[in-house]
Amino acid sequence: MKIILTPTYLQQTFTQTLLKQTKTPYLINTNIISLEVFLSNFFRNEDTNDYELSQCIKEVDVSFFKKMLYFQSFIDEIISFTRLIKSMDVTLEDLPQDSLMNQELYRLVESIYHKPLLQDNYKDYQKSLNHNFQEVEILYPSPTFLQKKIIDFLVEKQATLLELKQYKTPKEKLYHTVNTRYEVECIAQDIIKHDYPLHDVNVIITDTQYQNIIKEVFHRYQLDYSFTILRQKDMGSYHLANLLELYQTRDLTTLLKICMDQTLKASSFLITYLKNYVKDFEDCFKPFMHYQALKLETTLFPYEDLIELEKEAEFSFVCFRRDVLNILNSSSFEDALTASFEYLKKYHPLKRTKQFIEQHLELLNQPDQLIYRLHNHHYHLYEDHSNCICVTDLNHPVDARKMSYVIGLDQNHYPAYKEYSGYFNEEYLAKTPFIDNQQRYQLHMKNLEWIFHSGKTIYYFYPISSYTGKAIELSYHIETRIKKNQEYPIIQNNNSPVSFRYLNKETAKELFFKQEEDKLYLDGSISSFEQYFHCPYKYYLSQGLKLKEKQYLRIDSSIIGTILHYVLEHLTNTYKQKYTKHLEHAFVLVEQCCSDLKQILPKDDYFIPYVQQQINHLLKNVFLFLDAFEQTSKLVPKKAEYTFENVVLKLENANLRLRGKIDRIDYNSSFYRVIDYKSSNLKLSPSLVYAGLQLQLLTYSYILSLKDYRQAFGNYYLALNKKTFEYIPYTYSKDKVQKNTMEYPPSFQKNKVSGFTYVDKKQYEQECSLIATSKYTSMDFEVIKFAIPTIYQYLMDSLLQGEIDVKPVDNACTHCPYKSICRHFQPPEKPNPIFKQAFIISSEEEEEDIYEV
Ligand code: SF4
Repeated sequence: MKIILTPTYLQQTFTQTLLKQTKTPYLINTNIISLEVFLSNFFRNEDTNDYELSQCIKEVDVSFFKKMLYFQSFIDEIISFTRLIKSMDVTLEDLPQDSLMNQELYRLVESIYHKPLLQDNYKDYQKSLNHNFQEVEILYPSPTFLQKKIIDFLVEKQATLLELKQYKTPKEKLYHTVNTRYEVECIAQDIIKHDYPLHDVNVIITDTQYQNIIKEVFHRYQLDYSFTILRQKDMGSYHLANLLELYQTRDLTTLLKICMDQTLKASSFLITYLKNYVKDFEDCFKPFMHYQALKLETTLFPYEDLIELEKEAEFSFVCFRRDVLNILNSSSFEDALTASFEYLKKYHPLKRTKQFIEQHLELLNQPDQLIYRLHNHHYHLYEDHSNCICVTDLNHPVDARKMSYVIGLDQNHYPAYKEYSGYFNEEYLAKTPFIDNQQRYQLHMKNLEWIFHSGKTIYYFYPISSYTGKAIELSYHIETRIKKNQEYPIIQNNNSPVSFRYLNKETAKELFFKQEEDKLYLDGSISSFEQYFHCPYKYYLSQGLKLKEKQYLRIDSSIIGTILHYVLEHLTNTYKQKYTKHLEHAFVLVEQCCSDLKQILPKDDYFIPYVQQQINHLLKNVFLFLDAFEQTSKLVPKKAEYTFENVVLKLENANLRLRGKIDRIDYNSSFYRVIDYKSSNLKLSPSLVYAGLQLQLLTYSYILSLKDYRQAFGNYYLALNKKTFEYIPYTYSKDKVQKNTMEYPPSFQKNKVSGFTYVDKKQYEQECSLIATSKYTSMDFEVIKFAIPTIYQYLMDSLLQGEIDVKPVDNACTHCPYKSICRHFQPPEKPNPIFKQAFIISSEEEEEDIYEV
C-alpha cells in the first residue's frame, strides 16, 4: 500500500490528479492522508481537553496575575504556549524565573505541564518511528518546524519527498491599483480579456479580507473559482446560539435579531412589524390584533396598510410562536437547548453543531460561555480546485499553473512574518532554548518562495490606498525584486451610451391611458404629472409600472405637516377668517391627533409628547403671522383642504382627468386667491412652471378660472415654519459686531407668503403688505391660462408616443428610489421650457429664472 502524506487542503486535488494519471475511476492501494493522521498510528493519542486545563490554571494561587485569571483569553494563551513548548522540546526548567512576573508565569505553565497532552507524542518520535518508510511519499510544501523535523526523519528512513509543480523562471509583472477591490476587478478583467482557461489560473491572496471581494467580483464576472481552504461559520451553531440567547435575555431586540438572521423563518412583514410597531416582548405571544381592534377619534392617519401588515405578520409568526414559547418555557438551560435543537433540526443540518456540543458538555453550566462559543463556531471547508480558478493564500501552496496572480503585496501583508507577542513574547522566548527568531524568519521566507514560481506568468498586485484614502506602500521585498511598477489599465466605467428607452404606442396607451367609450383618458394627480417633467422614466416606473416601495406610517416630518393641515382646515371651516383667534382650540385638536398617534404607534409613544410640543410651539408662532395676514386682507378663506376629482381638461387626442386637494381658497366678490401651505420657504419660479416642474398652484388657479366669474388675485406658497419675524440679532462688519435691538412692532417675514400676484399692487396695497414682492399682472395670468393646457398637451403627446426616456432635470435624482433600476449616474440637466413664451413683465428678483424666447 502506497501512502501519500499531504495536508488536507491538497488531498482532493491530489486524488483527482492521480486518477487522471492512472486513467482509472478508483485509487487502489493508495492512501492519501495528512501527516498528523499518519503519526496517530504510532503514538498514544491522549489529550487533556482545554476546559480541564483551564480549571487547573484557575486554581493556581498567584498575585500578579490574579485578575488576569478572569479572562479566558489569558488562560488560552498559557495553554497554547504550554502546548508549543512541549512540541519543541522546551522543558519546564528551561523557562525563566528572573522576575516575579516570570515566576508566576512559570507556576501557571507548571500547573498543566504534566497533564497528558497531544504534543507529548512528539517528544520521543524517533523511538516510535523506528521503521522503514519506503512506501511513504511526502508532499508538504509549507511545513512548520515540528513537521519539518519529522519529515526529515521520515526521509532518512527511506520515505520519498515530493515537490509541487513550479516554473523556475516565470515572466513577472508588477501592477498597482487604487484599492483592494480594484485588484480583484483587474484580475477578473485580465482573465476575460485573455480568455485564460480557468483551470490554468491561480490567485494567491495575502489576507482573508479578499475572500468576500473575490466572491462578489468573480460571481459578477461569472468566473468559476474555489478556495483551497475556506473558514466557514457553522450556521447551525449560530442559530442555536441565537435561540439560547433569546431564552436568556427574553427581549424584543433579541427576538428581532433572530428573525432578521432567519433563525426563525420570519417574513419581511413580520420583521417590519416587530421592528416598528410592537412595544413589548410579551405582546409577541398574543395574536397580533392591535390595528384590527383600534378605535380612534380622528380619521387623519391612514392605517389600512398597517392592518394588512399586521395580518401578514401574524400569518408568519403563528407558524413558530408555539416553538418559541416551548423554548422560553423550558425549566432549565439544558431543556432550552434540547427544545431549540428540536426546532432547528427541521430547517438546518446540525451534524457539526451536535459534535461541537458533545465536545463542550462541560459548558452547560456556563450558558454565556457556550452561547459565545456557538456564535463563533467555524469549520474549514476544503474544495477541489482542479477544474476552476484556484484561490489560495500564502500559507497554502499549490501546483503552479500557466497564469498566477498574487494580490495584496503591501507592507502590511507581505511577508507578514509574525513575532511572538503577549506575555510569552520574543524577549521571553530569548531566555529559553526555543528556536531563535532568525531561524524562524528564514523558514517563513523559505515557505513563501513558492509564490515566485506559482505560474508561467505571474502578475503581482498591490493597492495604493485604503477605502478611506490612506496611502499604502508596496512591500519592500517585492520592490527590490521587480523594478517596473505600472498601473493596470482597468475598465472602470462602461461609458457606452444608454440606449434610448421608449414604449411602442400600443403599449404606452395600454399602460398609461383608460379607454371609456370612445374617449381616451389620462388620470392622475398634478404632482404625478410633474414627475414626468422631472424624469419621464421615473414617471413610467412609478405611474406606469406602479413600482412603489411600501411605506408604512411612521413618525417623520410629514406627520407634522399632516397635523398642521388638519388643524388649519378644521379651524378655517369652523371659524372662517376668525380662525386665528382660536389657538386654544388648535391645541385641543393637536392633542387629539397625538393621542391617536400614540395608539397607532405604541412603540413611539415616549416621543409623541415632544412632537406635540413642537407642533404647539410652531402653531403659536405661525398664528401670530396668520393673524396679521388675515387682518390685512379683504379676501376671506372659504374653502380649506378642498378636494376635487374628475376635473377634465379636454385636449387633442385624449382628455386629462385631474384629481387633487387645494389647501385653501380665499374669496371676495371680485377675486379668488389660491394658497398652498408648505413647511419651507418655497419660491414659485416662471422657468420651473414653464418646464412643467411647478404645475400644482397654477393648475389650481387655472381650474378655478374655468368655473369662476371672479378674477385671480394671485397664487401663493405660505410657509408654516417657526421663523416669523425679520429679526437679525447681530450685524457683522469688518471690525465690529453690533447687537441689534428688535424694533416694535416687529416686521413680519414677507417671504412667508410668496408667489404670483396678478392685481395692481398699489391699488391693493394693504392686501399685498405681507406678501413677497412680485411684478406680475393680470396679463401674465392670461399667459398662464394659455400655458397650462399647452404643457399638459405636451405631456399627453409624449406619453402617446411612448417616450419614457431617462432624462432627469433639476434635482429629480436626489431622493429617487429607482436609481438601482435606471442606473443613470450623470448629473441631471437644466430644466427645459416647454411653453416658449415669457411672462409679460418679469419680477426683478426672479429675472435670472426667466429664459429668453
Ligand atoms: S434616478 Fe434619476 S434618472 Fe433614474 S429614474 Fe430616478 S430621476 Fe430618473
